[in-house]
Amino acid sequence: MNFNGKTALVTGSTSGIGLGIAQVLAQAGANLILNGFGDASMAIADVARHGTRVGHHPADLSDVQQIEDLFGYAEREFGGVDILVNNAGIQHVAPVEAFPTERWDAIIALNLSAVFHSTRLALPGMRQRNWGRIINIASVHGQVGSVGKAAYVAAKHGVIGLTKVVGLETATTPITCNAICPGWVLTPLVQKQIDDRAAGGLDPQQAQHDLLAEKQPSLAFVTPEHLGELVVFLCSDAGSQVRGAAWNIDGGWLAQ
Ligand code: NAD
Repeated sequence: MNFNGKTALVTGSTSGIGLGIAQVLAQAGANLILNGFGDASMAIADVARHGTRVGHHPADLSDVQQIEDLFGYAEREFGGVDILVNNAGIQHVAPVEAFPTERWDAIIALNLSAVFHSTRLALPGMRQRNWGRIINIASVHGQVGSVGKAAYVAAKHGVIGLTKVVGLETATTPITCNAICPGWVLTPLVQKQIDDRAAGGLDPQQAQHDLLAEKQPSLAFVTPEHLGELVVFLCSDAGSQVRGAAWNIDGGWLAQ
């Protein structure tokens, strides 16, 4: 694939899955707008080595005004967004009756509402340019539940519902909208869950093995690069009739 001249915005791309996807898209020729917290200089350098244009905007996507600022920046500096990867997400694990309401609000704001806001802001430019790809990084937790993850599972189920509606609303156009549903990927978000398991004195290797063995039959992690290659496929002509799908890439998690 060659995405020369296209601009991709990958939210939450200063680490983890988002950074991996941004690298594969840059390798395929797209200009990249990165977003996310922390020092972005390493992420920018990593993506820029592929030779395309790279920008970064630090918007906190739980704030609608900052999402609008991000899209203003994309329009001014890059002429708009052709490929939108809604990736930024957070997690909190607690039983429903002990779930901090402030964590519920934060997870719904970022993992669900921000996907709606960035989609509504990206679509007019895509319609004008008559091409676009919206790819929502949902999760296996958009299709099944797990204990302790009420807000995350609710938000990810919502993302898959939103994906179907946007897939239908763009069905007769060269714009597609799909969701990707990864199983375990070893990123800071998952490392924290392994560390929490190991905090009770369990060997970290054992904690990692137990985490995989509970859900992921392959006993191997999905990688950010696997996800990047799937994004590239969905952006390609071959992916142009994949619409409103929720595509598992999960080591067999959902086959059980
Ligand atoms: P991560 O914690 O490594 O990265 C999250 C990124 O989001 C970072 O760049 C962070 O700076 C950014 N971010 C956090 N809060 C933000 C905010 N308010 N505004 C803007 N950016 C913000 O996480 P990850 O594991 O790479 O997860 C990325 C996505 O993949 C999430 O949507 C997550 O739900 C999903 N996912 C992850 C896994 C997994 O196993 N890691 C599995 C399925 C789905």
